[in-house]
Amino acid sequence: MQPTELEQLAREFGNPLYVYDAEKIEFQYNRLTNAFAKVEKLRINYAMKALSNISILKLLKNLGSGLDTVSIQEVQLGLHAGFTPDKIIFTPNGVSFEEIEEVAALGVQINIDNLSVLEHFGTKHPKVPVCIRINPHVMAGGNENISVGHIDSKFGISIYQIPHILRIVENTKMHINGIHMHTGSDILDIEVFLYAAEILFDAAKQFKDLDFLDFGSGFKVPYKKGDIETNIEELGKKLTKRFLSFEKEYGRELTLAFEPGKFLVSEAGYFLAKVNVIKQTTSTVFAGIDSGFNHLIRPMFYGSQHTIENISNPKGKERFYTVVGYICETDTFANNRKISEIHEGDTLCFRNAGAYCFSMASNYNSRFKPAEVLWKDGKGHLIRERETFEDLLQNQIMIEL
Ligand SMILES: *Cc1c(COP(=O)(O)O)cnc(C)c1O
Repeated sequence: MQPTELEQLAREFGNPLYVYDAEKIEFQYNRLTNAFAKVEKLRINYAMKALSNISILKLLKNLGSGLDTVSIQEVQLGLHAGFTPDKIIFTPNGVSFEEIEEVAALGVQINIDNLSVLEHFGTKHPKVPVCIRINPHVMAGGNENISVGHIDSKFGISIYQIPHILRIVENTKMHINGIHMHTGSDILDIEVFLYAAEILFDAAKQFKDLDFLDFGSGFKVPYKKGDIETNIEELGKKLTKRFLSFEKEYGRELTLAFEPGKFLVSEAGYFLAKVNVIKQTTSTVFAGIDSGFNHLIRPMFYGSQHTIENISNPKGKERFYTVVGYICETDTFANNRKISEIHEGDTLCFRNAGAYCFSMASNYNSRFKPAEVLWKDGKGHLIRERETFEDLLQNQIMIEL
């Protein structure tokens, strides 16, 4: 999107504001499906925890996407947005047994990642097909927080415990219809992905009645200049070839499933915030914006580097700034960053604000969560109103004291 279009939206809907470009989401969805066009049965399940606004869900549904969910509330939001239960997969970690039963009763595919839960569920509901989340123990990328396939991860059932899984299946006569892996969001190298995939293919041979193989996500998108991006086209070529040969070996047609979040929505998102103050100190120039980690926590939580542009002065002379929030804690968005000269009142734009930004927002410091706008066909559509004071009071009870 153009700086002028974004500025116009900030004027129309106010600051701070999340804007999502529908065309970019569509572009990414098509890129992924085109990369795997030779696979007869391909299923993309959008990981909705990245961005869960129901209009975004509807947009993805209309593109043909399924949904990957991690809580019963996400399942309910998906159903509300128009997804049918057969288009939803539930991949929780550490939720209660009752929640898994409730979701299964809705007709949603469940994915189990714990031996005790598997045994309990198979004993009680042997007729309900279940997918198993395997931990292939592949270290994806370098960031501990987002590598979930390694040995000490809480996710998945270890690949070394396959004999135990098989024993449970034998004892309970339950039906395993899919196997799954998700090695985290930081796969730098498609060779690592293909290596993990081999482990999943190998495990799949042990199960006779599979309908699908789910390779999760971990597709990387660039956040700043020079960042590596997953080469989806090359992965598509290589994995398709291997998948088709595996199908022959397995003797039956299978569905190839993915569950990308970031890949589909990250780059479609822009976060706009107004500069309240410029503060010169002995060594730094701070630009203080009317937001903080209550609205966008990724830089503080993960050390993510979102590109920041001054859309009020896009062609201005570049200077060095430290961009901070208004929260009464250290909430630094960017350190010593080159940005077009900033004046108080300017609007800054954060790139890659589609994934894990609004969905992680909170009311810390009793601030309102921002509004959300979908940019579609050259027009901004409000898809979430800015919160109001009533929202802060909602559910609170002032007792007699
Ligand atoms: C979060 C998550 C995803 C999506 O990861 P991205 O890095 O956003 O693509 C996929 N599968 C599972 C099980 C997840 O928890």
